[in-house]
Amino acid sequence: MWEKFGEGYTLIIYKRPSVRSGQKVVAEVRTSNGKVYYVREETFRDNEKELKRRAKKVYHGKAEYERALYWELKQEIRPKRTNDRWVVCWECGRKVPPGQAVHDGFGWYCGC
Ligand SMILES: [Zn+2]
Repeated sequence: MWEKFGEGYTLIIYKRPSVRSGQKVVAEVRTSNGKVYYVREETFRDNEKELKRRAKKVYHGKAEYERALYWELKQEIRPKRTNDRWVVCWECGRKVPPGQAVHDGFGWYCGC
């Protein structure tokens, strides 16, 4: 199992089990080379700690995973725009000097 999962895989733990060819599947592993493995309930139960420990990222539910992917994609597509004047961080309200905030889609963000 660990040989095929390799290093730096993503573990997605389902909120509700799904059924695949008659087997109860409670999680899936996405390897760094793009393969998907489904983890059966017993396998998960017996290896939960190790599965989590070896994972690069653990998501609870498909929705959480998809949200994270969506954000990553958005960050990649959007060119990073930095402020050329003093701005106010939309998150913490701090005044940020030029060049130190990025526009994150909502507004200027200081990295707080
Ligand atoms: Zn801030």
